[in-house]
Amino acid sequence: MANGGPVVHGYPHLETVRSAITALYRRLSYDTVHAFATSVAPVDVAFADTDDLYPGVQRVARELVRHYRLPDARMIVSFREMQHAASVELAAGPEYFIELNDRFRTHRRDIGAALAHEIMHVCLHRLDLTFPGTRDNEILTDTATTYLGAGWLLLDAFREDGASSQKLGYLTPEEFGYVLAKRSLAFGESPETWFTSAQAYTAYTQGLAQARRDGQQPPLTAAGWAGRRRYAKDRRHAQVHGPQSALPGGPYAFSSGGTQERSGLRVAFPCPTCHQRIRVPVRGRVRARCGLCRTVLECDT
Ligand SMILES: [Zn+2]
Ligand SMILES: [Zn+2]
Repeated sequence: MANGGPVVHGYPHLETVRSAITALYRRLSYDTVHAFATSVAPVDVAFADTDDLYPGVQRVARELVRHYRLPDARMIVSFREMQHAASVELAAGPEYFIELNDRFRTHRRDIGAALAHEIMHVCLHRLDLTFPGTRDNEILTDTATTYLGAGWLLLDAFREDGASSQKLGYLTPEEFGYVLAKRSLAFGESPETWFTSAQAYTAYTQGLAQARRDGQQPPLTAAGWAGRRRYAKDRRHAQVHGPQSALPGGPYAFSSGGTQERSGLRVAFPCPTCHQRIRVPVRGRVRARCGLCRTVLECDT
């Protein structure tokens, strides 16, 4: 896990984050993802600077192991001077060795955040779910940590005051907020009251606005006026000149459904929950259901 450096803002990793959410649903299935309907509770991972160090670390690690449903896994946590915030050795198990940066000895309240990320590496390792390259794999890890209910800790570890800033993980604060909001929308959770960091709360509200926009893209009926107008224009173009003629780059793409008839036109767009591609016929009001995350999609195609 990375440590230090200037804090990057915005959504530079959004495409990889979305691919990670799709990959989670594919690898775990809808039922397993929804077994994580309850997040790690703040009280269960709270760690005060007055708590004893090693018993406290083991307590928080056990709580995360329980949350991630790794019944036989045991985390052996130690501290040492290191450049990174934390690291884990991915071996066959059932014992896994995690090293935390020495500074956590005196910053105990963020130990839960560091362990949430490192233990998720163990989860993904056991699921044999990886993205190629360190960068994308770390984004997958942060996204999975957050989508499965422990990543709000990583967002809450983001703090800025006049003199210093701290952020853990590879996602930007807004991206953590976005994934947390995607989770909140899918599970009906309200994490607003869990934050101790004002900057984390702000990033969450920004991520929430971004996540809501995913559900307001055409051809979804919740799309705004401008989006619908653009969609109608693109659709007309596809109907007149053929689906391949449409300009690429939009949130949707037209294709022919296998016949030359106009009624054979289809439109593909990302599911606003899991970002799998959905394809529906172009014929006015259509209700579709995402086969991966089971979201019901009201479309006006
Ligand atoms: Zn990592
Ligand atoms: Zn979906």
